Amino acid sequence: MKKITQEKFVHEFKKRLAEKYALDVKDAAPSELYQTLVSVVKSGYSDIWRNTWKDYVKNDEKQVYYFSIEFLPGRLLKSNLLNMGWYDIVEKGLKEMGLSLDKISEAEVDMALGNGGLGRLASCFMDSLASDGLPGNGNGIRYKYGLFKQKFVDGYQIELPNEWLTDGNNWAVARESKAVDVLMGGQVHLIDNGKYLEPIYEGADVIKAVPYDTGIVGYRNDHVNTMRLWDAQIPATEEVKYPTIEDRRRVEDLTSVLYPDDSNYEGRILRLKQEYFFTSAGIQSIVRHYKKYKKPLTKISDYVAIHINDTHPAMCVAEFMRILLDEKHLDWEVAWEQTVKTMSYTNHTIMAEALEKWPLEMLEKVQPRILQIIQEIDRRYALELAGKRDQDFIDRTRIIKDGMVKMAHLAIIGSHSVNGVAKLHTELLEDDVLHDFYELYPERFNNKTNGIAVRRWLQVANPELSKVIDQTIGTKWRFDTKKLKELEKYADDKKVLKKIGQAKRSNKVKLADFIKQETGIVVSPDAIFDIQIKRLHAYKRQLLNLLGIVKLYLDLKDDPKQKMIPRVFIFGAKAAPSYHYAKSIIKCINEVANLINNDPTIKDKLKVVFLENYGVSLAEKIIPAADVSEQISTATKEASGTSNMKLMLNGALTVATLDGANIEIKDHVGDDNIFIFGLTKDDVLQYEKDHSYHSADYYNNDPVLQRVLNAFVDGTIPNIEVEGHEIFDSLLRVNDEFFVLRDFEAYIHTKEKVAQTYADQLAWQKKCLINIANAGYFSADDTVAKYAAEIWDIKADQPTEGTLDDVYPL
Ligand SMILES: *Cc1c(COP(=O)(O)O)cnc(C)c1O
Repeated sequence: MKKITQEKFVHEFKKRLAEKYALDVKDAAPSELYQTLVSVVKSGYSDIWRNTWKDYVKNDEKQVYYFSIEFLPGRLLKSNLLNMGWYDIVEKGLKEMGLSLDKISEAEVDMALGNGGLGRLASCFMDSLASDGLPGNGNGIRYKYGLFKQKFVDGYQIELPNEWLTDGNNWAVARESKAVDVLMGGQVHLIDNGKYLEPIYEGADVIKAVPYDTGIVGYRNDHVNTMRLWDAQIPATEEVKYPTIEDRRRVEDLTSVLYPDDSNYEGRILRLKQEYFFTSAGIQSIVRHYKKYKKPLTKISDYVAIHINDTHPAMCVAEFMRILLDEKHLDWEVAWEQTVKTMSYTNHTIMAEALEKWPLEMLEKVQPRILQIIQEIDRRYALELAGKRDQDFIDRTRIIKDGMVKMAHLAIIGSHSVNGVAKLHTELLEDDVLHDFYELYPERFNNKTNGIAVRRWLQVANPELSKVIDQTIGTKWRFDTKKLKELEKYADDKKVLKKIGQAKRSNKVKLADFIKQETGIVVSPDAIFDIQIKRLHAYKRQLLNLLGIVKLYLDLKDDPKQKMIPRVFIFGAKAAPSYHYAKSIIKCINEVANLINNDPTIKDKLKVVFLENYGVSLAEKIIPAADVSEQISTATKEASGTSNMKLMLNGALTVATLDGANIEIKDHVGDDNIFIFGLTKDDVLQYEKDHSYHSADYYNNDPVLQRVLNAFVDGTIPNIEVEGHEIFDSLLRVNDEFFVLRDFEAYIHTKEKVAQTYADQLAWQKKCLINIANAGYFSADDTVAKYAAEIWDIKADQPTEGTLDDVYPL
């Protein structure tokens, strides 16, 4: 990394501000200061960026390309400064000029090109690939509109467009010279030209795919990778075909919007076109780049690994085959061997509605040649199994069935590795959801438990706690998060526990200020901050949390004088715009919040805050201030979860079902340092099999639950005539698909235990410390290192081993 001193930085910053805006520091607006700072930062890593990718070619290094339809990087400024080793110098330099890094950073618009966990994971992986010194690239779509901006009006979610590009995205570089043409639509037929089958396209649209590259800076290791996002444009040669603005929009709209739905499959052809577009553009550019290696295509899998993140990029398999067959004229068998060796696939969900299926007729419209290739892969798959497996097995596992293409099957059959994202999830894949394939290809299945970028979620988001850790165990944990384990030695050190408590308290004061400023609600930093932040989904059971809150409220109304530790319940969640039920839950949470926050008999004892527009930057504000982390999904439904990891890392204690990675969190911190309740995987599977669950029994037999549910329909909670009944009916008439009523009593009981535990602050802080100490196990650096070694077979630069004692004097 370019070396910098405070003096040099200040000089450079002033010079650029004057050149770009003809302004002095004191006259510049935050956005102008921000843009200036970005340009200084970019100039700091641009040489290294160029060297990094040139070295890959020079050293014949195998590279991985991580294909994901979503990336959710959030703000890049502080994270880049941290990784470059510039953070403290720049912060001090800005201060010298009377400026604040925190304030300037707020001027950056979140890059919100993802819905939630899936996109955030992809971005944590980008950060870790670079920080591990691994040759890894991202490949995705540069949406013009990111995930919608959420507002509440009368308690209802309103979606506003998120035009994040209005100020230009300062981190990305457009590379016209690396553009490729993507063919879509029209018809295709094959002619035998004597040497090979040649596809002849008729009436296809040619779309120009232009890459926007963002440098992904590794942590203090002089390594900068590339995240490549594609934009759709009209090629100059095709312009006459699109004479009107509407015509042009047909092409440009291809990369306009991120589908704001990460689980419900929506039968929209535009989504399928997006999938083919970024897949084809990415694969074409990979094969073109491979020429620089001067190796035969029959060896491409020795130099290239392609990762399919969920099924959206599953057409990678067919597109790679298309290029090897139609453009490079390899034989099918040779091409197929290279394809399977190159591809690997991660499954992210077992929710049936999220397993993508596309009608043949739609695929044919999007890319007829790709459909032909998928049909041929499917035909050969069935042929190979004929006689070896029964017809039922073949029918169940084929790619094409009843006129639909199953994308997961395409990805599995075309990959050498299939992984789940937590131990329980992988087990469910092997034993249940993908059991047939597990039987067929046991060697392909493996687990890679998700992880998080500890740099962003602790070093950047929580400087107070980071400092306490430095003072306690030194700074090596900043390079190797497993070193956090050394904190355990201080589990009975009252001074350390107190400091951890003080850091939390100071973060709670900050969040309380933010809540006041955003919502007008006054909350006490002495209350328990009980947090549930994640997409709004029935299976995540925000509703269970809400029922618990209503119970507390009704108890307080009965006995307003009862002694209790004050609680603040904080929610952050977006609902997919078409997900009616989730939006009704949002409305109900907001109405319960209004009722409680404005009830003078409740005073400070109970507050409910639903912060608008949950996203990465809001998460960075909330998580450091959390006391309690709500991870209460119905067992089997949350594949892994990652907010559970971020929260434990910041010293929150988890209230959890035995679902996803919660199980591994429990295994690491021990039963005494987590609050587990509710149905297990086996209980849920049993109920789903024998249909013996009757939610009404729980309502009829539990007067507490009865009273809580009645509050939704008898006017106790105002302004939810429609939504209250809808929720009431979903729980009682539709038999409560996610077992909310079944788990209610256990949940209430567990939450009482939480409050009792909190009363002994030192005991509480000890549990916090143990959670922080064991969170290193969930570092994405390790997760990615396992992908690298066990799936991609790629090698890292020499790892950096170091301390920051010079930068962070104790
Ligand atoms: C971590 C994260 C998620 C994932 O949260 P889960 O609770 O694991 O679903 C979603 N959105 C954002 C903005 C995140 O940072």
